[in-house]
Amino acid sequence: MSEQTLFSKIVGKEIPADILYQDELVTAFRDITPKAPTHILIVTNKIIPTVDDVVAEDEAALGRMITVAAKLAKAEGISDDGYRLIINCKEHGGQEVYHIHMHLIGGRRLGHMVGS
Ligand code: AMP
Repeated sequence: MSEQTLFSKIVGKEIPADILYQDELVTAFRDITPKAPTHILIVTNKIIPTVDDVVAEDEAALGRMITVAAKLAKAEGISDDGYRLIINCKEHGGQEVYHIHMHLIGGRRLGHMVGS
């Protein structure tokens, strides 16, 4: 059993978050510091620290992240204009929380994909 993370505590409802979706594989909630009108995090319920730790048995959860992202984008009314999905990995990727998560960001035209 892995140690708890900030996001596993949100998944387990031990700390509050604006949860929009939850099933047996993933949980989605609004980012606490939104970078755009829509900024949602989709996390695996299982604690996987980084993309570098992914194994074949995680494929169902990782695929679910994308189908849930598409569903939430429609619900947010941003799917026609488009949006961005981001998974940061480790220090150079800018990852802050070591529990795999996908950012769903949209609601405005986004800038360059990679900053300085
Ligand atoms: P990353 O840099 O990819 O690890 O992203 C971590 C994200 O988690 C950041 O966008 C934070 O704003 C967000 N975050 C941190 N704490 C919370 C929280 N308690 N509830 C929701 N989002 C959070």
